[in-house]
Amino acid sequence: MTDNKKNGFTTSVLHSDRRKPVEHGSVHKPIHTSVTFGYEDARELAEVFQGKKPGYRYGRQGNPTVSALEDKITRMEDGCSTICFSTGMAAIGAVIQALLREGDHIVSSSFLFGNTNSMFQTVDRQGIKVSFVDATDVKNVAAALTPATRVVFVETIANPRTQVADLKRIGDLCRERGVLYVVDNTMTSPYLFRPKSVGAGLVVNALTKSISGHGHALGGSLTDTGLYDWTAFPHIFDSYKKYPTVQWGMAQVRAKALRDFGGSLGPEAAHHIAVGAETIALRLDRQCASAQALAKMLEADDRVAAVYYPGLPSHPQHGIATELFSGYGSLFSFELKEDMDCFDYLNRLEIAISASNLGDTRTLVIPVAHTIFFEMGKERRASMGIAESLIRVSVGIEETEDLLEDFRQALTV
Ligand SMILES: *Cc1c(COP(=O)(O)O)cnc(C)c1O
Repeated sequence: MTDNKKNGFTTSVLHSDRRKPVEHGSVHKPIHTSVTFGYEDARELAEVFQGKKPGYRYGRQGNPTVSALEDKITRMEDGCSTICFSTGMAAIGAVIQALLREGDHIVSSSFLFGNTNSMFQTVDRQGIKVSFVDATDVKNVAAALTPATRVVFVETIANPRTQVADLKRIGDLCRERGVLYVVDNTMTSPYLFRPKSVGAGLVVNALTKSISGHGHALGGSLTDTGLYDWTAFPHIFDSYKKYPTVQWGMAQVRAKALRDFGGSLGPEAAHHIAVGAETIALRLDRQCASAQALAKMLEADDRVAAVYYPGLPSHPQHGIATELFSGYGSLFSFELKEDMDCFDYLNRLEIAISASNLGDTRTLVIPVAHTIFFEMGKERRASMGIAESLIRVSVGIEETEDLLEDFRQALTV
């Protein structure tokens, strides 16, 4: 298998494992469960430890099955290297643990995945200041930058209200100011959008979601796009400056976050995610088409108060989403009119499952304010545009007609 750049997205994802020798011609990268790796020559072991020779040492820092997945994600994001973690949250935490120090400043979108929002509030109390701004307009991000700003963090499409960040202009701003631009690509996935195209330095993916796609493995990843100049970053330790400059950031993340905090991806999960990744294009084409049909049907119904989906022309960032993404994603949210109880509506659905998670092959629905956004309280919810009746829908791969019928029948009391 030669590395043919002309191959399409799915061909490239499917065959990435075979670019390096695979044991016995196995078409799947085998699951290596060994925690440690032995060497016949003890000097070789020392060279691996000292970074003079490639190789594996101990499972927390890397494993051949996980490495194969890292190569696959790098290929999907058109990046230069990837580190996998046990969850998406561990990947986001790694950026902070490995690269930031007391006194640093983060500018973050205020429209964030709930747990990321919670993490940033914790970090803010530990001496790294976080400013939350409406990142749908670059002006708000620019106004929040200070000389201490090290990172700008945004999601592509925000979960659950689907605001689309001003991705391209924020990328231009970060480049001008030498700030590391970190984009959480979970909601679009590299199939619909590559943050590298708008200047992101680091890309986060919660592999748990669309990339794995079947809700049967947790995982996260951080990809270096190669665009950020690490020589401009003030906190790289001397030990990692012995590598070529393009590797500085990830060398430090692998040691200071993955090795020292230990949020490592297990080989079995890596295998599940790698197999799931093979069908991401097929799944997302169907999921995006169904999401569009459902959003359109609900928007036209007068029992529905509001529908949020970037694929609708009524969405405030429909234009930017059309320009940047090759699809509008598998997730939308909507509010019912006040006289209909959101719990009763969810209980009338026969196909969709009331459950957390997203990007699954099954359609999942959740009453946002009462579950994933409950802990933050009503005031912060309101500031994030989360209505008490908001329902989030992660559209699965069921037949579109079946889903339309299910969501339609549940509107009738
Ligand atoms: C789910 C999610 C995460 C966290 O991923 P986990 O694997 O659940 O830790 C981060 N960002 C976004 C946008 C997500 O949807």
